[in-house]
Amino acid sequence: MIAKGKFMIKILEKNIADKIAAGEVVDRPLSVVKELVENAIDADASAITVEIKHGGKTYIRVTDDGVGISADEAELAFERHATSKIKQASDLEGIETLGFRGEALASIAAVSRTEIITKTRKQKSGIRLAIEGSQTAEKHGTGCPDGTTIIIRDLFFNTPARLKFMKTDATEGSKIIEFVSQIALAYTQIKLRLISNGTMLFSTQGKDDLYQNILTVYSKEVGMNLIPVAKNTEGLSLKGYISSPGISKPNRKSQIFFVNGRVVNSKIIEKGIKEAYSDKLFDGRHPIAFLFLQAEPKTLDVNIHPNKREVRFDDEALIVNFVREALRSALLTKESIPEVKTENVFKQKTNGVCQNSAEKTEKPVSEGLPQGEQENIKSLLSTIRKNEDTKPHVIHETPLEYQAAAPAMAVSETEKMKTPAPFDFDELTIIDAIFGTYILARDETCFYMIDQHAAHERIFFEQLMGQYKREEKQRQIIMVPIVLNVSYAVKEDQYSWLDALQNLGFLIEPFGPKTYRVTEIPMFMALDESEQFLKDFIDNMSEQSNLELFPVIEKLIMKSCKSAVKAHDYLSEEEISRLLSDLRQCENPFSCPHGRPTFIKMTQYEIEKMFKRV
Ligand code: ADP
Ligand code: MG
Repeated sequence: MIAKGKFMIKILEKNIADKIAAGEVVDRPLSVVKELVENAIDADASAITVEIKHGGKTYIRVTDDGVGISADEAELAFERHATSKIKQASDLEGIETLGFRGEALASIAAVSRTEIITKTRKQKSGIRLAIEGSQTAEKHGTGCPDGTTIIIRDLFFNTPARLKFMKTDATEGSKIIEFVSQIALAYTQIKLRLISNGTMLFSTQGKDDLYQNILTVYSKEVGMNLIPVAKNTEGLSLKGYISSPGISKPNRKSQIFFVNGRVVNSKIIEKGIKEAYSDKLFDGRHPIAFLFLQAEPKTLDVNIHPNKREVRFDDEALIVNFVREALRSALLTKESIPEVKTENVFKQKTNGVCQNSAEKTEKPVSEGLPQGEQENIKSLLSTIRKNEDTKPHVIHETPLEYQAAAPAMAVSETEKMKTPAPFDFDELTIIDAIFGTYILARDETCFYMIDQHAAHERIFFEQLMGQYKREEKQRQIIMVPIVLNVSYAVKEDQYSWLDALQNLGFLIEPFGPKTYRVTEIPMFMALDESEQFLKDFIDNMSEQSNLELFPVIEKLIMKSCKSAVKAHDYLSEEEISRLLSDLRQCENPFSCPHGRPTFIKMTQYEIEKMFKRV
């Protein structure tokens, strides 16, 4: 305990002051990695290796091939407020580097055993320094490549409180993996390598290829189902990738946003995404999204506090609309139709002759890594996450809470992306229908299978929703009325559901104590469809609360159109073209209301690959 009041005022010893200051900059292994990686980026590195052991608690190494530090300045770099990035107060206005406070190295060195080996391009040889709790323990010249390596051992060895505060190796490690993964997406021109406990987790190529980096860092399953997004207007551009509605997650942890190069949290972008997928995903499901938004710096305010990464837009509605529209058009492109790929077909290893060719077609996720190493990564990732994550290596499920600021990030790659054209139904030629379920069709470059039930469900759903929203209902009189028998409970509740069904275009009147008579049905429905729909609607209704709420009705319709469309397995040619022309009228033709795909495609190229023609 420190007694109050009884001491003389004096300046703190350097190592104590540094230790106190360190608490603000370094609070866990992640913060060390973050500072060191950002320094490497500021040093213009084109390759960065991050190596950790025990989640970074015992060992962190960051090696770069950047500008290096000259031998006579190396020690200075570890002084507090020592920075090469700003010289005068006015420089603060236009900071283009990630760091500028000159506190990181001093703070890190105060709470660990630090070693630095560095050499500038001009110097013939480099220097090696060992610093232990702020004191230089060793210093001598050494031969080394251009650039800087910093090794941090035994983090918090001299601050027991912090030491105790660290979580398990797995938790600390996964936070670092998250961060380096984000850096890999933001800086596609840098070769990034991540090694944990002696195993390489991933290695990016630095070829400015965002898509390749997503495949490398996340999983192939995720990557193969991504749809490119690209939209530009004056002062705003959005690029990146989103998942098709068939791939969704129970939370938003697979949504990563970069605004002007910085990783940010943004409720506004989330809202735009949610609206774009509103009628494609159930409540509580979220798509994967890697989105890079560029906006005029004067139209937003990025709070660059290391732990907040919030962004405030001047015109929030504009951003919501922009994101929604960009995603909507992406979801209507040919790219958004799920594709059958050779990789899936040859997934299982076979014995004998086929094996080689199968392996040839199966490119490792991280190119340049042998297959064995891939397996290691997968098993490693799953052990790392096993404590907190039940779904290893699908995509990182732990919160993304780092700021990966990147003034000059990889937009150049995404800029290459053209705005994809919407899918053109006119190009489709129907070939046949098989198994009473799938319509086969083709266009210039692709072969398609269309699930007629899913398509029908989508059409049905949109027609009903349209009818519900319309003032003038389009009905048809039926010759023989449909008779509905309901329970007393349902009868009690008639005011809510009768209204809802009238709104959908049914004309219903009481016809006995527990019986109703339906004399008119929606224009677009067949008699048997109506009958099935009404039964399902009433069955499902009892589970719902307030039928006056739009989302409740929406969900109810979604549920009830399912069985209604089971009928009519074998469609005539006219029925097929009718179905497709109805589908093209839909706002979301490529998935049923429950998120299953209506279309699957195979490109001619993939087919040829499967037959080993290319
Ligand atoms: P800041 O990044 O805020 O300037 P740091 O404490 O992180 O402060 O680094 C202090 C200085 O050390 C930097 O300004 C830079 O000149 C130098 N430095 C740190 N890391 C590297 C590196 N990897 N390559 C070259 N110089 C570096
Ligand atoms: Mg720094």
